[in-house]
Amino acid sequence: VSCQQCSEPPCVRVCPTGAAHIDPATNIVTMDNSRCVGCKYCIAGCPYNVRFINEETKAAENCDFCLHSKLAIGEQPAC
Ligand code: SF4
Ligand code: SF4
Repeated sequence: VSCQQCSEPPCVRVCPTGAAHIDPATNIVTMDNSRCVGCKYCIAGCPYNVRFINEETKAAENCDFCLHSKLAIGEQPAC
């Protein structure tokens, strides 16, 4: 399974920095990588076990429909 885009996402609730958040414009559960400290609380808190640390960015990640890449330029998600 991929990120279930929970309506009351535990990953957001447990994140101490606000890195994991709901995008106000789209309601998509996404990330602000610049605020992630890599504590992995969100990974422990996700009931679907779908979050992970991106080895390149060192930030936690979930499927956000390519919100900051593809959707941002009007394209469909990569998948
Ligand atoms: S990462 Fe996990 S807890 Fe967060 S919205 Fe997705 S499925 Fe829900
Ligand atoms: S790993 Fe990053 S996104 Fe996850 S809880 Fe910690 S600061 Fe928040």
